Amino acid sequence: MYADWNRMKKDLKFNSKTIHGGQHPDKAYGAVMPPIYQTSTYAQSTPGGHKGYEYSRSANPTRTALEQALASIENGNYGMAFASGLAAIDAVLKLLGPGDEVISTIDLYGGSYRLFKKVYENYGIRFRFVEMDNVEAIESCINQNTKLVWVETPTNPMMNIIDIKAVSVLTKKHGLLLAVDNTFATPYLQQPLDLGADIVMHSATKYLGGHSDVVVGGLVVKDKPLADRLYFIQNASGAVCGPMDSFLTLRGIKTLHVRMQRHCENGEAIAKYLMAHPKIEKVYWPGFETHPNHKVAKAQMKGFGGMISFVPKGNYDDAIKIVEKLKIFTLAESLGGVESLAGHPASMTHASIPKEEREKSGVVDALIRLSVGIEDVEDLIGDLEQALT
Ligand SMILES: *Cc1c(COP(=O)(O)O)cnc(C)c1O
Repeated sequence: MYADWNRMKKDLKFNSKTIHGGQHPDKAYGAVMPPIYQTSTYAQSTPGGHKGYEYSRSANPTRTALEQALASIENGNYGMAFASGLAAIDAVLKLLGPGDEVISTIDLYGGSYRLFKKVYENYGIRFRFVEMDNVEAIESCINQNTKLVWVETPTNPMMNIIDIKAVSVLTKKHGLLLAVDNTFATPYLQQPLDLGADIVMHSATKYLGGHSDVVVGGLVVKDKPLADRLYFIQNASGAVCGPMDSFLTLRGIKTLHVRMQRHCENGEAIAKYLMAHPKIEKVYWPGFETHPNHKVAKAQMKGFGGMISFVPKGNYDDAIKIVEKLKIFTLAESLGGVESLAGHPASMTHASIPKEEREKSGVVDALIRLSVGIEDVEDLIGDLEQALT
């Protein structure tokens, strides 16, 4: 059994959905937040006589609450919560079989790339990587074996924007599944199912959880047959989200909209500060009119988010020096928490991608990625200033 919240609070606006979407007081005592049902199994009155839950891999009430919230905020019908973002991607790939082909973006999240190339290629699935801001490039890769198009937008860490609606026209024309990794934008900024995607995927570890305290993944779909297939895989493979992590993620989602608003404001201020800085060579942020996909970003997204990449003048070692000098920005992998983080993709998140491949997509040795948090922006700019001088 998975989360079907069809009848539940579907007409709310987004900020109300983050708090109430698919939620209801607990049946036992009216607890407003769902209890952490830390149980593996459930008493049955007679064989098969249960109250909707029989074993926590198949379903758990705390997880159901999270799954309903996920479905709600993404304007879907069915949500599924996994042990990590990669477990969610893994479930989508298990829809495929040997000989099938997947088309994806050239500057894909490093972990997704590793799962595609190092795991699923061994099972006979082929992956092609193209620059997806060029829809014709995608179409030229489609053949009779193509089954899935995997989109990530904004891309990580180059902040390219892919036109979800334009890609969905193509996938519908050719009868392909379209999955969108919505981790960076979150449904606050863009809702891929409304733009024609079939599957939305999240690393809820990032903005949805928002507090850097869980590793969780999610999938949301509209279509029942597709939900049935994915739910079968979730239960059969078993990489489910535990009750404690479900609770924490749900708590995070309740403030998603206020956090995202501040991430966007701080992100804009820092992007502009960096752009004007004499020691900076390049800044990647989709809010700039000079960004090659700015128009699409403006049409598709409600704001430009808190993720920024930049290239300081200098080389690998200069970039390392800068990230080591930062005091408020923590040098760490991951993103999307309330605290600001800085990362060096070439040695951290993208180290698993060969240098040649990496540089083709712009991930040069000096590139630094910021996940701008929700601190006072003056403090963040002061921190960057001292690190750059
Ligand atoms: C982190 C991340 C993932 C993987 O999620 P995990 O929760 O770490 O397994 C996938 N896609 C993007 C864009 C990410 O940032």
